[in-house]
Amino acid sequence: MTKRLGIFGFPLGHSLSPAMHGAALRLLGIDATFEAWPTPPDQLRTALKVMRQADHLGASVTLPHKQAVIPMMDTIDEWAREIGAVNCIANRGGKLFGFNTDAGGFIRALREEAAFDPAGSSVVLLGAGGAARAAGFALRRAGAQRLTVANRTMERAEALAGDLRQGRFRPGACGIDRDSLADVVPYADLIVNATSIGMRGGPAASESPVSADLISDRALAYDIVYAPPVTPFLREAERAGARAVGGLSMLVYQGVEAFKLWTGNDPPVDAMFEAARGAIKGSH
Ligand code: NAP
Repeated sequence: MTKRLGIFGFPLGHSLSPAMHGAALRLLGIDATFEAWPTPPDQLRTALKVMRQADHLGASVTLPHKQAVIPMMDTIDEWAREIGAVNCIANRGGKLFGFNTDAGGFIRALREEAAFDPAGSSVVLLGAGGAARAAGFALRRAGAQRLTVANRTMERAEALAGDLRQGRFRPGACGIDRDSLADVVPYADLIVNATSIGMRGGPAASESPVSADLISDRALAYDIVYAPPVTPFLREAERAGARAVGGLSMLVYQGVEAFKLWTGNDPPVDAMFEAARGAIKGSH
């Protein structure tokens, strides 16, 4: 029986996941398909019932469903509970297990693409939405020492900073205007863009959240945005002489972790990177 995998989201746009997972399935000779499943919110519950059938191995979950699927799971893992979002579902004997692989994917991307260890670091996290939440909790767990959440909507920055507070880890919050950023960005070892600023087709596609003159040349700039591969933020970081890494690595590593949860196989990481890069090029 050919098994099925897919991605739930709405609107789904041009998802890289079918190309990335399709390449991995083919390379390992696994008899399964990975499809795009655009699912409006009012159809999510029905779609998840189908997921329990024996031919369904699991699914990726993206906007706007990452929170909504939680009460529809039989079990969720520690990461998903802490972050409050599920981006990966595995069907095990008709029971649905929810995971968050965004957080682990983000840390693995920092470690493997930039040889950056967050332990003891000072971080500015731009954004307070779903991606920022996953990055913030992942950085806390990886031992970041100081963190400031900077966001357009100040209340959301404060809420995320508050959720992240634990023991001696006391994140701050500020706006995303230049004056606020000037107080924190120059001193950061790691600056993460987890806003949609710079995203192709997004509300501020040609903008960077930070300009080069605020970025230290010893910083690492990580843009969670992956399309285009070189965003305006990464260009500003390069102008500042800083290291700059794009979000494709997080996307692939969250997929690598998910693939292992679905199939039990060691994922072919290089082939997944290659397929994802090809799919980005093809989406112009
Ligand atoms: P989200 O929950 O909708 O959050 C969007 C964030 O961007 C919020 O902080 C929002 O600020 C901010 N924002 C949006 N437009 C803005 C503007 N014009 N000016 C200033 N701030 C703005 O979205 P998300 O899921 O976190 O996704 C954010 C980005 O990360 C997207 O580009 C997504 O594709 C990418 N992403 C990548 C991966 C990966 O694997 N690489 C994974 C997940 C997401 P407010 O709070 O003020 O609205």
